[in-house]
Formats: sequence, structure tokens, C-alpha cells
Amino acid sequence: MIELKGVSKWYGSFQVLTDCTTSVEKKDVVVVCGPSGSGKSTLIKTVNGLEPFQKGDIVVNGTSLTAPGTDLPRLRSKVGMVFQHFELFPHLSITENLTLAQIKVLGRSKDEANEKGLKLLDRVGLKAHANKFPGQLSGGQQQRVAIARALAMDPIVMLFDEPTSALDPEMVNEVLDVMVQLAQEGMTMMVVTHEMGFARKVANRVIFMDAGKVVEDVSKDAFFGQPEARCERARQFLSKIL
Ligand code: ADP
Ligand code: MG
Repeated sequence: MIELKGVSKWYGSFQVLTDCTTSVEKKDVVVVCGPSGSGKSTLIKTVNGLEPFQKGDIVVNGTSLTAPGTDLPRLRSKVGMVFQHFELFPHLSITENLTLAQIKVLGRSKDEANEKGLKLLDRVGLKAHANKFPGQLSGGQQQRVAIARALAMDPIVMLFDEPTSALDPEMVNEVLDVMVQLAQEGMTMMVVTHEMGFARKVANRVIFMDAGKVVEDVSKDAFFGQPEARCERARQFLSKIL
């Protein structure tokens, strides 16, 4: 579903990604972790074309991001993205947040988009809040709306960038529960998170990044089960967060 082939990226003279290679198969749930500044956000943003890169290639569902003629906006509409800070449109109602891209990008009718939006809002337990504005919802609720909004586009894969790290602790689980359910339904997911409970529950692979490199890319069982097989840097990192 996603293939990264030797992706390197520089900000000016600073190399933020070095030769990153990995792949995500259909229905995989891949957790990406690693120290702050290691390039996790940058990596995940390159996957849906939000960040250009200078070397290597990324292929999403058979389409190369670098091939001439690739319709990036179209490809991006198939890749759902959920950010740390929700990024809902503050001046639009929850319903409008859920329907805008469906109408503008996918060309759905307002009725069709509304129906789809409401169904997804119900699925994340927020049907009663359809007419509110983002500022009237808690952080956990806003993040669930953001997930519903991404799902409304019928994505073939969902990318998450630390979706719970800006939330108060009591709201983390309501968001993780939605993500666990998605994973169990077979959604292909790439998730930057330090929630190792989530990783243990639903991930099938864990990628550990350090200083712009993919330094480990192993099965969940290998990651959690064989500490001696892990690199020193990953061991140190895990000992701090577990
Ligand atoms: P992570 O998500 O793992 O914390 P990031 O991908 O956000 O890491 O950042 C990786 C490195 O790239 C950091 O050193 C960060 O300061 C740098 N960086 C991120 N965005 C930019 C940018 N727009 N310009 C210059 N440097 C950046
Ligand atoms: Mg980040």
C-alpha cells in the first residue's frame, strides 16, 4: 500500500531524513516511534505529499509521488491524515467540517456528504454534537471529529501524527478506542505515537526512528519481546517511556 524507497530530505543543509526505506502492506498497522526531532512527523508528511523530498521515491497504492503527471491532490484525498492539534476549521460547524472536502474534493452532493458525515460522527460517538463548533468540544471530542472527517473521504490508508499527545490524560483513551476499532476493522494505518499500549494491542510492526533514520523496522513481537535484539538507542528510548 505504501512503499518508501531510500527517501532523503534536507531542510537547507540540514538532513532531516536519511535513506528511509520501509513498506506498509494492506491492513498493516505500523507504529512509528522515536525521540523528539528524529523525523517522525516529516516522514509521515512525505507519505501523503505534504512535504517534498529530494531523493528516493514513495509509492502509494501503485502510484509514485515523484512520477511526472501524478495527480498529488487526488492521491492525497485517498490518504487520511490526523494531526496532533486536530486542525479542524474553527469557524465551521462540526457538520461543515465533515462535509467540506467531500463536497469540494470528491464532488459529493450536500445531502450525500451530510449523510456520510453524520454516520461517521455517530460512529465516533458524537452524533449529538453535529451543530456545534470545534471550540465547544473537548480536545478528545475534536480529535474524534478529525478522525471522522478523514474517514469521510473513504481513505485507503490513515496516517496519524501523535494524535493523543496534545490531549489531557483522561481523553487519551476515547481517541485510542476509535483507533483500535479502526485497526480491528482492517484499516491500513501508519501511526506516530508513544502509546505503547496501543502498539501492543493492534500494531503488527514497529518502526523506531533516530536522527532521521529508520533504525529498527520489526514485528511487534520482536520489538517488545526481544529487548536484547534491539539497538541501544531504542532500548534507552523504551526504558524511558514504558
Ligand atoms: P519528530 O516528529 O520526530 O519530533 P520532526 O519531523 O518534526 O521530528 O523534525 C525533525 C527535525 O527536522 C527536527 O530537528 C526539526 O527541528 C527539523 N525540522 C522540522 N521541520 C522543519 C522545517 N520546516 N525547517 C527546518 N527544520 C525543520
Ligand atoms: Mg512530530
